[in-house]
Amino acid sequence: MINITLPDGSVRQYEKGTTAYQIALSISEGLARNVLAAEVNGEVWDASRPIEADASVKLLTWNDTAGKSTFWHSSAHLMAEALEALYPGTKFGIGPAIETGFYYDVDFGDREFSSDDFKQIEDKIIELAKAKSDYVRQPVSKAEAVEYFTEKGDEYKLDLIKDLPDGSITFYTQGNFTDLCRGPHIPNTGFVKAVKLMNVAGAYWRGDESRKQLTRIYGVTFPKASELSEYLKMIEEAKKRDHRKLGKELELFAFSEKVGMGLPLWLPKGTALREKLVNFLQRAQVKAGYEQVITPHIGHKNLYVTSGHYDKYGADSFQPIKTPQEGEEFFLKPMNCPHHCEIYKTKPRSYKDLPVRFAEFGTVYRYEQSGELHGLTRVRGFTQDDAHLFCRPDQVKEEFKKVIDLVLYVFGALGFDNFTAQVSLRDPANKTKYIGTDENWSLAESAIIEAAAEKGLPTVVELGEAAFYGPKLDFMVKDALGRKWQLGTIQVDYNLPERFELEYTGSDNQKHRPVMIHRAPFGSLERFVAVLIEHCAGNFPLWLAPEQFIILPISEKYEDYAKKVLESLNNSDIRGMIDLRDEKIGRKIRDAEVKKIPYMLIIGEKEEAEGKVSLRKHGQGDLGSMTAEEFRNQLIKEITV
Ligand SMILES: [Zn+2]
Ligand SMILES: [Zn+2]
Repeated sequence: MINITLPDGSVRQYEKGTTAYQIALSISEGLARNVLAAEVNGEVWDASRPIEADASVKLLTWNDTAGKSTFWHSSAHLMAEALEALYPGTKFGIGPAIETGFYYDVDFGDREFSSDDFKQIEDKIIELAKAKSDYVRQPVSKAEAVEYFTEKGDEYKLDLIKDLPDGSITFYTQGNFTDLCRGPHIPNTGFVKAVKLMNVAGAYWRGDESRKQLTRIYGVTFPKASELSEYLKMIEEAKKRDHRKLGKELELFAFSEKVGMGLPLWLPKGTALREKLVNFLQRAQVKAGYEQVITPHIGHKNLYVTSGHYDKYGADSFQPIKTPQEGEEFFLKPMNCPHHCEIYKTKPRSYKDLPVRFAEFGTVYRYEQSGELHGLTRVRGFTQDDAHLFCRPDQVKEEFKKVIDLVLYVFGALGFDNFTAQVSLRDPANKTKYIGTDENWSLAESAIIEAAAEKGLPTVVELGEAAFYGPKLDFMVKDALGRKWQLGTIQVDYNLPERFELEYTGSDNQKHRPVMIHRAPFGSLERFVAVLIEHCAGNFPLWLAPEQFIILPISEKYEDYAKKVLESLNNSDIRGMIDLRDEKIGRKIRDAEVKKIPYMLIIGEKEEAEGKVSLRKHGQGDLGSMTAEEFRNQLIKEITV
């Protein structure tokens, strides 16, 4: 018999070779029907795979992220089976699960393929799902694997097998389709009840632009038909909120091929919004003891050789900038941190000076493949709301708590109230791959966990997810449509202080290394604005709206009065404009509604005679009349809340 520990801590005995499915069955039949896979000692396994020794087991269903991703990855196999049945000779690259659904990269040879083919494939998938074919795992030798795919003529699978060590290779077969895969998968295809193919795109084999472009087919599947229709409704809403569409309609930002792909141009209204975000955070940072610094957009090659960024970004990113001086090379900065390390070094620091906190809205440049670019969320140049804190090891916890406060303040002011904190720690089984002393790591890791707990953050701890240079805390935010975004990040770094030989004099009069903390509540302004636009559907909080009101004169007769009203309202916190077009008032109101301007001030004969304005609120309609001064007071009250 073996002992199986369940997530609630209870221990049950089973025969050696039992499976997650049998464990589920011993608890309840209903549970067994819903088990997709299981986490066995932290690794996701097939529910049908025999467990041979004592283990801790977590049964995974559709409600678990790992369960969903197993479901979707298995659906990629199912789609491949359908493609092979419909289009014999199709070759297959990789077919992973993604955040929502899955894709498979395939080579159709000379066959033309388009979304017109989706329906036929979807029907085939459902037909094959109904067959309830088991996903059968079979370990094979490397020679067997090579033989199978050589015979099949699938060079992509052969390319993948090349990198796999013998003895580690498994095949999975469902129905008539066999794939190279390490698994895991759901028990059988019958779990898939609804499918929708979403998109088709080109994707270079192994992301390498010099290799063949394959066809990437994206799909999503569900265990219930009703979940698919809910999902499709959400997608419709997401399309309406797409920041690329709203960014154009609200005249916030634009792209120009002449300027270069992935390089956003901020239009006047977008700039106004961005400036408000910057000022808002800057004010909060000054209060929290940050000092503002400014550093150049480029740096000498040696700076990035020292920091290690040259190795990380050098060959795969923007290439060096040369000068008339022989051998002199500069790089567009991929990170602000190296510059800030040099600022730290401009004078000797004592333990009493720490922490020091340097903040900069620093623009950085990183090359992204053109196919990866997406609106403001994936760009080639972006501005981080960056800061680097240099502190003593005993100050890490206090600094984390302060940064958490700042992040919560930012989220609160912008209406993000659904989030979790993900704490990424070392892999305890593999401590040697991390830089920094064991003692400092333990100190920092418990500091982060305690800081998150003391601030009452809903926290998930991920072992082995830390960077090699330090543990971190990321804020995962759920937006109004339930989509998850990684926004704020706080990261400990033992690497750069070492590389830049940063020091402070301790109370013992000896030299010590400070701990460096990178943090960015927004992440980048570009990405943050994109997420914010989609979260609030372009209806920004009043304080942030680029135009808080618009004055709509009924005809040109009232222009002078309209201008007087505007003059009395505009100041540094309140901003509006007049619609002077020769249009009917109904049209002007409709256009202002489309632009999501929070308040409309309508001015006609009666308003001018009474020295008032008629007020309309976006999405709500008529609010009656008041004087310009009454409106201003109301607005100020609303934006200071
Ligand atoms: Zn697989
Ligand atoms: Zn940094």
